[in-house]
Amino acid sequence: MQHVVEVVEHRKGQTRKVTFELATQARDLADRLGGTAHAVVLGSGAAELAEQLKAYPLDAVHVAEDPDVDAYLIDPTIDYVEAVARAVGSAVILVPNTMYGRDVASRIAARLGAGMVADVTGFEVEGGRVACVAPKLGGATITACAFRDGEYGVATVRPNAFAAQSGGAGARVDAIEKPPGRRYAMRIESEVEEASDELGLEEAPVVVSGGRGLGGADPFRTLLKPLADALGGAVGASRAAADAGWVPYSLQIGQTGKTVSPKLYIAVGISGAIQHKVGMRSSGTIVAVNKDGAAPIAEFSDLVVVGDAFAIIPELTKLVEAAKA
Ligand SMILES: Cc1cc2nc3c(=O)[nH]c(=O)nc-3n(C[C@H](O)[C@H](O)[C@H](O)COP(=O)(O)OP(=O)(O)OC[C@H]3O[C@@H](n4cnc5c(N)ncnc54)[C@H](O)[C@@H]3O)c2cc1C
Repeated sequence: MQHVVEVVEHRKGQTRKVTFELATQARDLADRLGGTAHAVVLGSGAAELAEQLKAYPLDAVHVAEDPDVDAYLIDPTIDYVEAVARAVGSAVILVPNTMYGRDVASRIAARLGAGMVADVTGFEVEGGRVACVAPKLGGATITACAFRDGEYGVATVRPNAFAAQSGGAGARVDAIEKPPGRRYAMRIESEVEEASDELGLEEAPVVVSGGRGLGGADPFRTLLKPLADALGGAVGASRAAADAGWVPYSLQIGQTGKTVSPKLYIAVGISGAIQHKVGMRSSGTIVAVNKDGAAPIAEFSDLVVVGDAFAIIPELTKLVEAAKA
């Protein structure tokens, strides 16, 4: 039997959608392994976030509102996660595949002498053994890597790879005892630069994406951005657009880019290649705007608007703005 422990990323209690996706996945995986599902929340705002996590099907949320977690570099976090992992016993540890998550995952794997798989998009369980499904070599191959025999395994999980589903019996909230004193490196000064496009794209309720059909960089600013703004969403792109240098790679959606699952996905001048589809197919409603009504994207769109994007998008933007006024 193995348990599952999620490490929660947040800033002063503000978290990302991936936290709730991992909470849901922790339950699912724990059930398949016959174990229990846990979350670890650390630093200021942890108690408040633990209350939110009660809405998800976890058995326990382990909390430490210790100011040392915010004041020092990552070491106190690793000490706390290790303490929970050792108290819970044999476990798979789930961490979001973000900058923070990758930092935590590699250190906790080293601390626990565990195997680690990065950028996981699925889990297979056979005979109590967990295999992590993860795209490799830029998405050219999909691997299923089992953890070697041992007490612990660590997986960084791709945001938007799993759905978040609330509903649970209300997890118990436990305070974690402070690990015995160590000497840590302190953060004297910090400057935070928001990678707003990166965060915005994966969290946005609406994504307006452009492809080769837009023919250049300008339409992303003059055509798609106004529509995305009117809808309260973010701009994304196909790889063809990123490869052409029209947008940064941080906007690329698909097998070798980001996975998004907004309520509404509008694909403009995108043909719908399989590598693009895998990054957006779980979106709520998919609308395609394409000159070619027989483009592959039509097969998995809820609505296809056949015509020239340069004529359709400005009109659509005006209608959305008028509806809001
Ligand atoms: C290993 C690998 C990984 C890949 N990873 C990704 C990935 O992560 N993401 C990704 O997107 N791709 C990825 N690709 C590339 C993918 O196969 C396609 O080449 C790419 O998605 C095509 O981009 P596109 O739809 O913008 O361009 P195209 O396929 O050229 O489609 C352009 C579309 O625009 C339409 N159009 C043209 N003019 C207009 C207009 N004025 N108005 C409206 N519509 C118009 C056309 O009818 C056409 O359907 C990958 C490929 C490989 C081999």
